[in-house]
Parts: sequence; C-alpha cells; structure tokens
Amino acid sequence: MSAALHLYESPLPAPPAPGEKPSDAFLADLAAESQRLESATPDEILAWAHERYAPGLAMGTAFGPEGCLLLSLLPKHAPTTYVFNLDTGYQFQQTLDLRDRIVEKYGLEIDMLQPELAVPEYEALHGGPLYKTDPDRCCHDRKIKVLERAAVGRTAWMSGIRRDQSAVRAKQPIVAWDRKFHLVKISPLANATKQGVWTRLLKEGVPYNPLHDEGYPSIGCWPCTQAVTPGANGADDGDERAGRWAGKAKTECGLHTDGSGI
Ligand code: SF4
Repeated sequence: MSAALHLYESPLPAPPAPGEKPSDAFLADLAAESQRLESATPDEILAWAHERYAPGLAMGTAFGPEGCLLLSLLPKHAPTTYVFNLDTGYQFQQTLDLRDRIVEKYGLEIDMLQPELAVPEYEALHGGPLYKTDPDRCCHDRKIKVLERAAVGRTAWMSGIRRDQSAVRAKQPIVAWDRKFHLVKISPLANATKQGVWTRLLKEGVPYNPLHDEGYPSIGCWPCTQAVTPGANGADDGDERAGRWAGKAKTECGLHTDGSGI
C-alpha cells in the first residue's frame, strides 16, 4: 500500500448535508489529511482521492500544463474520476484541439460543460460582450454557475492549481472544504513548482497547449488572455498569470477564491 493511502477502519466524519456547515470533526479530518499529504507525490494524492471519494470524485480542467499532467495520471490512479471542462464558448481553438489529443492518448471522457446561453445569445442579451464591460459577471455566468451545476451530487473536486502561481493561491491546502461549491477540494499539485510540472510533462511526453511556446504562460478564454514572454514553458519568468485580464484589476475568474481554504 502506498504511503499516502490509509485503510480507514473507523467511519470518516460525515460530510455536511446540502446547505449545512461542515462539522469541526469533518474539517479537522480534512486538515490532518492535507498535512499528511504534503509529503506525498501527485500520483499518491490522486490514488488517495480516488480511494476516499469515488465514485463522486470530479476533476475540472482548462487544459493547462498542470491539468494535462493530472489527466495523464488519472487512468492509472483515479480511473473513475468524472472530468469536466468549463466550455465558455470563448476557448482558443488550440485548447479544444488539445482536448482531443488528450482524450485520444489517455482514453478519457471529458464532459464539455456549457453555460445556459451560447455566445451569440449571451452577447445579444447584454448588448455586446460582457468580457469587455463586466468580466466578473461574464466569469460568473459562464464558469461559476456551470460548476455549481456540475457539483450537485459529487463528493469532491480536483484542480491543478499550484501555490506558486500567484499570491491569491499561495495558501491553498492540498485538501480543504470548498464553501463555494460545497465539496471537498483537492489540489494534488498545490506544493509543486512550475519547473517541476514542466519537467515531468516534457519527460513523459504529455500533450500541452502549443500556445505556451508562443509566450502564453497561462491560457484561459481568448478575449482575456495575452502573450507575455517568449518561451514561457518552464522558464522562471515572473508572474505567470500576467497575461490574464491584462490591464484590469481582475486576476482570477472566481473558481479558486473565497471558499477553498484560502
Ligand atoms: Fe468571460 Fe473572459 Fe471570464 Fe472567459 S475569462 S468567462 S471570456 S470574462
């Protein structure tokens, strides 16, 4: 048995019912597990998550390098994980092509979750693209609300965020209660580094977004993403989210703030 796995001989503290707050015992258990997993590998954390939370375990990905690395490990360590992408209607074609390469290579099913309104209807409703005038509302409608729907009936969700991506993410635990989506949130790469992720990605031949080789360190929706520096795939070149919502105060879409132990 892996060092990261437990045989649970006594019942785990019960998760909160919908609309209820988690108990102190439940939160203490998550904090203890999170601390214990600080020395585990991402592979071990995935296996731990699968042992504890399948079949209700989900993973969200925007096909960044971290997400691609985790996706490559799912078939071996967490094979029944429900994988989804928040398909805002504004993703780069290169991102959608990458999705196809990942699906083919690893035999995964990835649910492309779409907002209530397609882009033409949404922009018509608001008299133009909201990403220009109210990007917070746009992210809420096209990401947050979609994930809220996907969270129903799940036990836990995973993402590829790392602490060293930004100041906002610097305190992300490996395991925490996510108040916003009422799920356990698992971040198997929370204590990984950008260099470490890229080294493994390249060594293991995991597909990645070609836009990273064109100076895009972080890739989201095309209207809100800019190239920053050439050769951003692994170079220690400063704020890797600098190209997101460039020129605006906004730095996060809201999926990873206000509820994930940070
Ligand atoms: Fe809208 Fe930009 Fe947010 Fe995408 S990243 S949902 S285009 S505001």
